[in-house]
Amino acid sequence: MASQWVDVRDLKFMLHEVFKMDEQLLGKGPFADYDGDTVDMVIDSAAKLSENEIAPSYPDEVHGNPVDAVFKDGKVFAPEAYHRLWKLYCEGGWMTTSDSPDWGGQGFPEIVAACTSSMFLGCNQAFLMYAGLTHGAAKLIEKFCTDELKNLYLPKMFAGEWGGTMCLTEPGAGSDVGALKSTAKKNPDGTYSIKGTKCFISSGDHDLTENIIHPVLARIEGDPLGTKGISIFLVPKYRVNPDGSVGEFNDVVTGNIEHKMGIHGNATCTLNFGDNGDCIGYLMGAERQGMEIMFHMMNEERQGVGMMGVSLATSGYLHALSYAKERLQGNNLFTGQRYVPIIQHPDVRRMLLKQKSITEGIRALCLFCYWAMDMQKVAENDEEKKKWSGMVEVLTPIVKSYCTEMGLVVNDLAVQTYGGYGYCREYPVEQMMRDQKINTIYEGTNGIQAMDLLGRKLAMEGGQFFMNLMTEGNPFVAEAKGMDNLKDDAAVVEAAVNAILTTAMDFAGMLTKNPFVPLIAAMDFLNCVGDAVCGWLHLRMAVEGSKGLDKATSDSEKMFYTGKIESAKFFIQRTTALIPAKCEILKKDETSCVRIPDEAFVV
Ligand SMILES: Cc1cc2nc3c(=O)[nH]c(=O)nc-3n(C[C@H](O)[C@H](O)[C@H](O)COP(=O)(O)OP(=O)(O)OC[C@H]3O[C@@H](n4cnc5c(N)ncnc54)[C@H](O)[C@@H]3O)c2cc1C
Repeated sequence: MASQWVDVRDLKFMLHEVFKMDEQLLGKGPFADYDGDTVDMVIDSAAKLSENEIAPSYPDEVHGNPVDAVFKDGKVFAPEAYHRLWKLYCEGGWMTTSDSPDWGGQGFPEIVAACTSSMFLGCNQAFLMYAGLTHGAAKLIEKFCTDELKNLYLPKMFAGEWGGTMCLTEPGAGSDVGALKSTAKKNPDGTYSIKGTKCFISSGDHDLTENIIHPVLARIEGDPLGTKGISIFLVPKYRVNPDGSVGEFNDVVTGNIEHKMGIHGNATCTLNFGDNGDCIGYLMGAERQGMEIMFHMMNEERQGVGMMGVSLATSGYLHALSYAKERLQGNNLFTGQRYVPIIQHPDVRRMLLKQKSITEGIRALCLFCYWAMDMQKVAENDEEKKKWSGMVEVLTPIVKSYCTEMGLVVNDLAVQTYGGYGYCREYPVEQMMRDQKINTIYEGTNGIQAMDLLGRKLAMEGGQFFMNLMTEGNPFVAEAKGMDNLKDDAAVVEAAVNAILTTAMDFAGMLTKNPFVPLIAAMDFLNCVGDAVCGWLHLRMAVEGSKGLDKATSDSEKMFYTGKIESAKFFIQRTTALIPAKCEILKKDETSCVRIPDEAFVV
């Protein structure tokens, strides 16, 4: 029976046939010792762990009983089932799939780790967040801490003995991080005394690990207001003895956990640092470099959140597909056959192909971002390296925002495919839709990502990085133009890319003269960019899919490639085709939402 949780065939198609990792990546630079078969073994074993062990832990309610993280007597407890999973996950080395062997990692390409994570996430995002934040915090320590701190903390964190978090948000400082009030005061021994309250901290406290390590943003007394005056500190829940053992409590007290729409298994905590004046932190990097340093973790997490969007879309779509094949309702409009599976109705087929084509598009987009990270590692010169690092810069807000926005569209359609049953807790698509919603909010809301793209990323390197992203698909457009079955689709993609490039230039001009137009358009523009980039990625998949179809011998392979081509056509003709018209609308001087007085919003 086809999986309702993971899409292994498509992941392997992306790795080997689309990105051609065997020729372009494996055997080169840090990946000299890896080959395609080993990569496939890793993908297969991650799929097994995902389906057999992680997916059964997914429901956040069993027979009417919540399966939540719980706050009791000042302590936080993760759901019981997570303890065994944590052990399996950490002992299997999944925390460090792409990390340096110097710290016990396996050194695989980032794109391979992204594939494995995507399967784990689709089976239980709330659980995986404990691992994702631990990994992100550990990477920050690896990059910005002294050797002494690295040796004390990293082996334990990468092994999953200690957990990790990221502590930015405060009650009065959400999107506006610069408004934070947490303070740090330097002590004579070079450590800092930390004081302040952080809220909404994912995986902030729990009983999966014996210690939890918090990177905390705070302002050293006397430093300037705003983001420029922020520093970052490594603050353990329990202090660490020189021999690496867990020492005394470090005055990090959990105030409460949130009761949320989704991801119930992940503890979202309010943490009080130094209420008793006894919380010690260690400076990471230099004073007032806090935002710059935290951005390294935020970027990793933003890319990871984009992958969360893809992962829940994958499991939502696969569940909907399976249900549509089984649920009997109505007559076949063409044959007159009575009481047929709903997959036979044209509108249900539209919903299914829309889910499939969005999911495959955003999966390709996310994987392309990780591919760009790997290409930096095997780049042959500085220019190439710069091109790929610029690609990651531009892609990050798009991946975070577009993949989660579109992931939610897929989860909505999955619920719709189930009809009334989709709205009930008995079926997992209801929970998937609830879980997906947070991905558009945290790690910088999607609105903030849109500002980042418009205000910062478009202009980087005089616009060259953005241009590189938009034109990276040109060779595939050219190839598809020469193929009878894809030439019309290639023309659509080409027109969309040109419209985006023109609009980006127009917006750059307007930002100084009439900024409201581009600012109001920012979110829609980011989505248009996503539609266009997914357009050329879909075209690339269809080109390779057509080649695969020519060579395929088994029925299942023929169906796989046929599905890739139809999925690409649906996306390009239904979504990418709208871009030139949408861009024209976005550029219109239509500013009613800023013109309207606040009082006039009243109905
Ligand atoms: C479940 C959960 C887990 C979280 N995990 C973490 C975590 O681990 N660590 C952490 O530090 N934080 C975490 N957060 C916090 C999260 O990152 C913030 O909620 C988010 O950044 C938004 O901040 P806010 O909630 O204060 O909303 P606000 O900043 O008040 O924003 C409200 C609305 O206004 C918009 N807005 C605000 N400012 C602007 C602007 N300048 N321009 C345009 N629009 C704007 C926003 O887009 C949003 O739509 C978590 C939150 C939740 C709910």
